[in-house]
Amino acid sequence: MTASQTARTARTGKPKLAFRPLPVPQVDVRGFWGDRAEAVATRTADILYDRCVEARMLEQIDPDRPSPGIVIPFHSPSPDEAASPGFTGSTVTTQMFWDSDLGKTIETAAYSLYRRKNPELENKIDAVIDMYGRLQQEDGYLSSWYQRIQPGKRWTNLRDCHELYCAGHLIEGAVAYYQATGKRKLLDIMCRYADHIASVLGPEPGKKKGYCGHEEIELALVKLARVTGEQKYMVLAKYFIDQRGQQPHYFDEEARARGADPKAYHFKTYEYSQSHIPVREQDKVVGHAVRAMYLYSGMADIATEYGDDTLRVALDRLWDDLTTKNLYITGGLGPSAHNEGFTSDYDLPNETAYAETCASVGLVFWASRMLGMGPNARYADMMERALYNGSISGLSLDGSLFFYENPLESRGKHNRWKWHRCPCCPPNVGRMVASIGSYFYSLADDALAVHLYGDSTARFDISGVPVTLTQASRYPWDGALEITVEPQAPVAFTLHLRVPGWSSGARLEINGEAVDLEELTSDGYAAIRRNWTKGDRVRLDLEMPIERLYANPEVRQDAGRVALSRGPLIYCVEATDNDTSLHRLTLPRTAGIEAHDEPDLLGGVVTLSATAQADAGDGWRDGLYRSEPPAKVETRLTAIPYFAWDNREPGEMLVWLRDG
Ligand SMILES: [Zn+2]
Repeated sequence: MTASQTARTARTGKPKLAFRPLPVPQVDVRGFWGDRAEAVATRTADILYDRCVEARMLEQIDPDRPSPGIVIPFHSPSPDEAASPGFTGSTVTTQMFWDSDLGKTIETAAYSLYRRKNPELENKIDAVIDMYGRLQQEDGYLSSWYQRIQPGKRWTNLRDCHELYCAGHLIEGAVAYYQATGKRKLLDIMCRYADHIASVLGPEPGKKKGYCGHEEIELALVKLARVTGEQKYMVLAKYFIDQRGQQPHYFDEEARARGADPKAYHFKTYEYSQSHIPVREQDKVVGHAVRAMYLYSGMADIATEYGDDTLRVALDRLWDDLTTKNLYITGGLGPSAHNEGFTSDYDLPNETAYAETCASVGLVFWASRMLGMGPNARYADMMERALYNGSISGLSLDGSLFFYENPLESRGKHNRWKWHRCPCCPPNVGRMVASIGSYFYSLADDALAVHLYGDSTARFDISGVPVTLTQASRYPWDGALEITVEPQAPVAFTLHLRVPGWSSGARLEINGEAVDLEELTSDGYAAIRRNWTKGDRVRLDLEMPIERLYANPEVRQDAGRVALSRGPLIYCVEATDNDTSLHRLTLPRTAGIEAHDEPDLLGGVVTLSATAQADAGDGWRDGLYRSEPPAKVETRLTAIPYFAWDNREPGEMLVWLRDG
């Protein structure tokens, strides 16, 4: 029995029927995700470390070097805090989050080590961990910001300063690094810190009733509990979920305690951090988008661990609100730069879309945890949408350049950067891609669910029998999937295969015999229960039509427009492939759209092309307006997958085309 099984058994008396992701090293990915993961393992992981050094993060955490002081200026000024003693006139600098960037960098490196040994990087990470070991205080406390830059201020501003968020990312890094290398040092450091946190915060008398303004610690503590088998970390995670938004409001009390006026809060409303009301009462996705996704991920973990249906009901309301009113077609979310988050229903501007890479990555985290409660395409389809589009758009094909914002329209000036003052996104997409195998499958006592398709091999034990499952496919470019199941001895279990919502038709064969797919399918998954023997073959053919997608008429920015998709991929047009300014293009409803295999383009993609119409620019004699509409001329339109945009010469980009 594993430690996590022991933990579950001790808590409930019997293990729950919950689906757990396969650990990263048990899935070898090739093909599309193999290329992405290879780019992260060979380039991104090293780049992340190098950029952390260049940003002077190591100077901040190394107690043997002089503190770099404040390198990045404070921002988010709030007048009350400017006037209060001991504060520097503003509340937050992104430098406060450096521990989190290092945590995610460690996590990316850890997952990458499964794919490719990298002793040089491993040595560098070990040295970073040694620095944290020397930095940690006697009582277990560990924050490079509050120890090195603002000493004496710990636990005074959970609302703004990301203290527990940083702890959460270091915990996630510690868990991943322990699993990848067997080295426990950072794990032990973070257990000591988590114990310290539990001694300061919690429901017991004499403890602060606080929680973090930026969620993250909740899901991290669940991981820590699972890897150590220590239930106390699960209890602390549940406390943070339960306490959020309760009255009297902790952030009010905390502000008063440091001599600030709670009403002078920069973001005006606690919706910003989803702490306006208790989480079980929430029914609208509000505030900062990444925070929201991390909170819902933590809630989903606790719902699964405790069998808590009150959380599940709230999560389903929030899921509906996000996916029916507030989600870009790319799986991007959070349209506004002001609050890095949500605005009002159906407000989905394209050119100014904030759609932070981290928010889409966060949606993948949330969706994958909803699948812990059982296979359901309601969540898996959106996970796939966010994965293939709005999240990996944040990483260049070669793994070296990044997007923070992921707009759906660009005049050509939105280009990838080497690094960002707030570098949360690069290591977030890095760790997600490097651990992609664990999103493919989840395992229950006598069932395996296949959520994602792609050339890959998975190894797992079911009912004590080791099984190898191989997917041979060109997915996402082709919908034909050949799955081979090879148990070491015959074993009965249920194989759940997702039938994506975008597929217009699917055929299933088991060992060459056609099977009635509809009869087997519920919640978007076909459930194949049988006694599996070596060499059993399942063939799933997913029809992958080119689709024209339209937005709900309430979305003003997409009125009269159409987007193109094929399989899980959303497409866009880029200037470099098209002769006309993109805003002049119209795609007639009658136009036939063709798919083309382009093995030499953008690392190998399928492009779409059609005969379109363009507004002609002649006959205007330098005029700005006239009564006669522009003439239409025929032109060829070529579209590429959205995730691959801005990997060639800079230029315009457009997802939503004019519909003719
Ligand atoms: Zn980010």
